Amino acid sequence: MLTDYHLHLRPDEDDTPPSRYFTQANVERYREAASEHGIAELGVAEHVHRFTRALDVWQHPFWKRWAVDDLDEYVGFVREETDLKLGIEADYVPGREDRMANLLDDHEWDYVVGSVHFIRDDAIDMRGEWDIWRTSGDPEKVWATYFDALGEAARSGMYDVLAHPDLVKVWGERLPDGDLRRFYDRAMDGIAESDVAIEVSTAGLRKPVGELYPNRAFLEMCLEAGRPVALSSDAHLPEQVGYEYEHAVKWLTEIGVAELAVFERRERRLEAIG
Ligand SMILES: [Zn+2]
Ligand SMILES: [Zn+2]
Repeated sequence: MLTDYHLHLRPDEDDTPPSRYFTQANVERYREAASEHGIAELGVAEHVHRFTRALDVWQHPFWKRWAVDDLDEYVGFVREETDLKLGIEADYVPGREDRMANLLDDHEWDYVVGSVHFIRDDAIDMRGEWDIWRTSGDPEKVWATYFDALGEAARSGMYDVLAHPDLVKVWGERLPDGDLRRFYDRAMDGIAESDVAIEVSTAGLRKPVGELYPNRAFLEMCLEAGRPVALSSDAHLPEQVGYEYEHAVKWLTEIGVAELAVFERRERRLEAIG
């Protein structure tokens, strides 16, 4: 069994309306690409900030710019017109846990993917006016705050999967010196006390850092804490489905991971990789 659960049916760009991307023809393109990689288990996890309902949770200017689509229509499309698993990529916004939980409670997801994309108002993986590195971001501080938030996200209990867990390395520059486990440690209590699966994402291989998310030491710490693995590509285009999966599966095998998390209506089971 191979999974690709963290899929977006469209790029993070202007002029990507649901009418063009939330269609059976587009889903068919994703299915075909998945078949070529031997991936049977597929699900979508659109960004919460693309839906108007997100503004009940957080009013960040970036969200205000993007929150235009109808969440119920997305859910209806996936459930009624596709055989994809239904997920959503929901940010962890400290202090807004209740609001996000309310939004999530309105639908019956197969899984909820939790992401830390922002530290306060600053973006971890976005260049431009919100970029956390646009001023003199101190790597020690940014990394510490990032992993604190990641641990809190796990502990919140809102998420089935912790997405791209060490996203803070995305740009491959201004990395802290020395053994990075001092940062991973900050998230590990929250992760150990949670029931969350840890996403191994091949998206990092497409980014400047050129590595899988997460770092091997981070994953080993999560495995030690008893957490299972969820495998995804974070594709935003059909040709990114199953991206570099051969590499990821080999890497997981080396580390001793033999099973992947499979989700249905927020129940998780483990199936052998294959
Ligand atoms: Zn993300
Ligand atoms: Zn994503």
